[in-house]
Amino acid sequence: MNLHQRKRVLVTGGAGFLGSHLCDRLVAEGSEVLCLDNFYTGARVNISHLLGKSNFELIRHDLTQPIFLEVDEIYNLACPASPIHYQYNPVKTVKTCIMGAIHMLGLAKRVKAKILQASTSEVYGDPAVHPQSETYWGNVNPIGQRSCYDEGKRCAETLFFDYHRQNRVNIRVVRIFNTYGPRMHPNDGRVVSNFIVQALLGQDITVFGDGSQTRSFCYVDDLIDGMVRMMHAPDEFIGPVNLGNPGEFTILELAEKIVTLTGSRSRIIFHPLPQDDPLQRRPDISLAEKKLGWTPAVKLEQGLKRTIAYFKTLTQA
Ligand code: NAD
Ligand code: UDP
Repeated sequence: MNLHQRKRVLVTGGAGFLGSHLCDRLVAEGSEVLCLDNFYTGARVNISHLLGKSNFELIRHDLTQPIFLEVDEIYNLACPASPIHYQYNPVKTVKTCIMGAIHMLGLAKRVKAKILQASTSEVYGDPAVHPQSETYWGNVNPIGQRSCYDEGKRCAETLFFDYHRQNRVNIRVVRIFNTYGPRMHPNDGRVVSNFIVQALLGQDITVFGDGSQTRSFCYVDDLIDGMVRMMHAPDEFIGPVNLGNPGEFTILELAEKIVTLTGSRSRIIFHPLPQDDPLQRRPDISLAEKKLGWTPAVKLEQGLKRTIAYFKTLTQA
């Protein structure tokens, strides 16, 4: 802790979708927040409302390079999360996952900071077990188009646990399932933002495959609450722990819901399914419920309404 007893918290990827909501929460709680980002998929506008605050600082930095800071806690979120962005420069994605983890773990080791890794349901790949619990080791293609992200995130988890065992670094690992909400990048290709933007602009809604693949969608506020709870969990509980909303929907159901909620006249059209697209995904969150007392509160329809309201402000601007 620093002289003024205000906790110094580093958020890597802090100008991104999840990172900016996390910064909001930490600034509001009174922590001294260092937001680090290279603006690859993040944007200044996501955190511009925080720039004047005395307990918020923005650092433009690429996490593939080392950095020396003095902090008490680190949330490691830096990494493009949407398939089109992480596949655009796959080598860079691997570097960000692995070198970013090494640099942040090295920093945590040097300054004795607690460090949380934003891992992903992608570590389960195209799961042969349903729903997915933390004990499942996954079904991941090591050489496909999604591998830069999936294997990068898996190796980052390995590094976290090895630094913990070898160097006693105080780690936390959360596996995040599909999360949505305001500040998703309108062109980032993820399904919720894609469908809402298409519906609001009256464009065709592009369902990949026949739309029978499933996903579970967590509203951003719930997710951030789970992450912060995990950071503050007793030191014996380091994870990995699933964070997500267990409500499971087919992609076609999602498209239909968004058409109804927006009152759009868009047609639903079908495109080929991308390579290695997981057929089903639903988190088993019993561990998070038991250890963190966490359960998501926002229903899909409620969360979609708030997200649609946000995208309306963008499409009408
Ligand atoms: P995002 O793309 O909005 O945010 C990622 C942020 O990291 C961006 O601001 C980007 O500019 C920054 N970044 C990327 N590479 C960087 C680098 N080399 N150096 C510094 N900054 C870099 O994505 P998000 O949805 O906010 O995801 C945040 C984290 O959560 C990611 O690690 C992602 O893997 C994980 N996650 C997200 C979801 C989800 O559904 N949103 C699901 C699973 C895991
Ligand atoms: N998807 C879709 N149309 C789109 C974008 C995505 O049908 O315009 C599908 C995609 O094929 C996948 C699901 O929606 O089955 C979720 O995709 P997303 O990229 O949001 O996340 P992930 O596949 O990583 O869960």
